[in-house]
Amino acid sequence: MQTHKYDVIIVGAGGAGMRAALESSGRARTAVLTKLYPTRSHTGAAQGGMCAALANVEDDNWEWHTFDTVKGGDYLVDQDAAEVMCKEAIDAVLDLEKMGLPFNRTPAGRIDQRRFGGHTRNHGEAPVRRSCYAADRTGHMILQTLYQNCVKQGVEFFNEFYVLDLLMTPRADGVEVASGVVAYELATGEIHVFNAKAVVLATGGFGKVFKTTSNAHTLTGDGMGVVWRKGLPLEDMEFFQFHPTGLAGLGILLSEAARGEGAILRNSEGERFMERYAPTIKDLAPRDIVARSMANEVREGRGAGPHKDYVLLDLTHLPREQIDAKLPDITEFARTYLGVEPYTEPVPVYPTAHYAMGGVPTNVEAEVLRNNTDVVPGLYAAGEVACVSVHGSNRLGTNSLLDINVFGRRAGIAAAEYAHSAELADLPVNAEAQVIALVERLLTSTGTEKVNTIRTELQNTMDRNAQVFRTEESLSEVEADIVKLKDRYDNIAISDKGKRYNSDLLEAVELGFLLDLAQVLVVSARNRKESRGGHAREDYLERDDKNYMKHTMAYRQADGSIALDWKPVVVTRYQPMARKY
Ligand SMILES: Cc1cc2nc3c(=O)[nH]c(=O)nc-3n(C[C@H](O)[C@H](O)[C@H](O)COP(=O)(O)OP(=O)(O)OC[C@H]3O[C@@H](n4cnc5c(N)ncnc54)[C@H](O)[C@@H]3O)c2cc1C
Repeated sequence: MQTHKYDVIIVGAGGAGMRAALESSGRARTAVLTKLYPTRSHTGAAQGGMCAALANVEDDNWEWHTFDTVKGGDYLVDQDAAEVMCKEAIDAVLDLEKMGLPFNRTPAGRIDQRRFGGHTRNHGEAPVRRSCYAADRTGHMILQTLYQNCVKQGVEFFNEFYVLDLLMTPRADGVEVASGVVAYELATGEIHVFNAKAVVLATGGFGKVFKTTSNAHTLTGDGMGVVWRKGLPLEDMEFFQFHPTGLAGLGILLSEAARGEGAILRNSEGERFMERYAPTIKDLAPRDIVARSMANEVREGRGAGPHKDYVLLDLTHLPREQIDAKLPDITEFARTYLGVEPYTEPVPVYPTAHYAMGGVPTNVEAEVLRNNTDVVPGLYAAGEVACVSVHGSNRLGTNSLLDINVFGRRAGIAAAEYAHSAELADLPVNAEAQVIALVERLLTSTGTEKVNTIRTELQNTMDRNAQVFRTEESLSEVEADIVKLKDRYDNIAISDKGKRYNSDLLEAVELGFLLDLAQVLVVSARNRKESRGGHAREDYLERDDKNYMKHTMAYRQADGSIALDWKPVVVTRYQPMARKY
């Protein structure tokens, strides 16, 4: 076992982690721990864009952007946080430009902008061009740009280090502070203890609880899982976004940029059905509304294909030059994975699990909350792992690449400044004990269950019961399934017992996190007896502001059960209204 000492440890090298590292490493001794090589992080898969009210191509301002974010999130957004994000968006884009990011340009040489769902002019009048982009590879460009700047700045990376535990130490006044993390090194099987003054979690989402998902294999919610097992709360976990346009049957994402460039959704009769559901902005309505409308078309028998189980994304009226210049990757996905030629044929699409609105609760300084009001000194979170909450119950497209840059930056600054004023806390006794016990149990188990079987069964029941539409019946069914799967998980065995590159072992650990998080999602969803944003209950069709305009806070109890509480929503300017588009 090795011990390391730093001022700041950042866990995760996606957009949020590396943006934090750029701030922190100039101010304090910083290390970034990441289970993936940095440029393999999921941020690199982001396609469509990052929004900011630059007003480069038409009238726009950050207040319209804030309003759209709040309304898009179905009024569960903390409005102070949305104001911060939308105001700082402009500098966030310009910072990336200065770092060298090759944005698409207007003929006059300014950063070009395109439309995206839910982003409007003057409080919903018409779609506005707010998303800055680099073809349909915006996330790739962001990740590469941040990584190159980290290298230039000499940021220290520990690649393929899996953080499996967070360390907390009681201060003299009894308050527990973050004191480091414990990591497993993939190449050697060695355990490393990192003692630090501040820890920033930037570990991304957990889309792998679902079968049909746009998320990479590695998005298993480790950061949320680690925090959960420490008894810290998770917020709004019932709100998971289903992106309307996954390739049918596969879930691979076709960016909303397609509709931003003018593509149209049609049912089997060729009808542009979104005209009925969102007469003003049609195909550019927020994702929750479009996903439900698509599912509804299929249910009512207007689905396309031999099994009538998907709808069609029509790009055939777009000029080929526009498709080639602005949507090259996603049109290639349609050709490669479905054998469909988007120039001439509509592409089969269906909603796919995409984004976690919930996560580790933080304030706008990215400090992690231990309850509704108090922070955990020295602990920060940013990006998809966190819930600030700027996305409320439904995130608008392009607001995540923005979120990771704005709050990644804030987390990096706050953590480094905190490290200047704080002493390095002692490590808890036997700091590594929990991780060693976890690893040993899996390596020595002679159980009969397999990781792959349990993961597949979890994903199937989540898709069946906790997807676009939910009911008490479906949720209680999946909850019971998860309890049984957790029992069976205690009896899993892995075939690789070795020390080097034991990915079997880590997949088993990741499955443990997935099971925990799926359970929190489902228990939170059962408790919310209303429909809001990404959480649509068929037994409670309406949004119920009187009883449910509040955040869910879930806590793990000592016996493993889940206790639920509420947290008020911060409302500054926008009172909830009916959500018409
Ligand atoms: C296909 C796709 C397209 C998207 N397109 C867009 C878009 O156009 N616009 C937009 O705004 N949003 C988009 N999103 C959403 C957005 O890309 C993500 O929400 C965002 O990039 C998440 O960034 P992050 O830094 O929080 O996490 P990630 O980029 O997922 O990075 C997580 C990091 O944490 C590390 N990590 C995880 N667990 C551990 C552990 N146990 N120990 C150590 N390290 C760990 C990983 O190695 C990785 O470096 C898209 C998402 C997908 C899946």
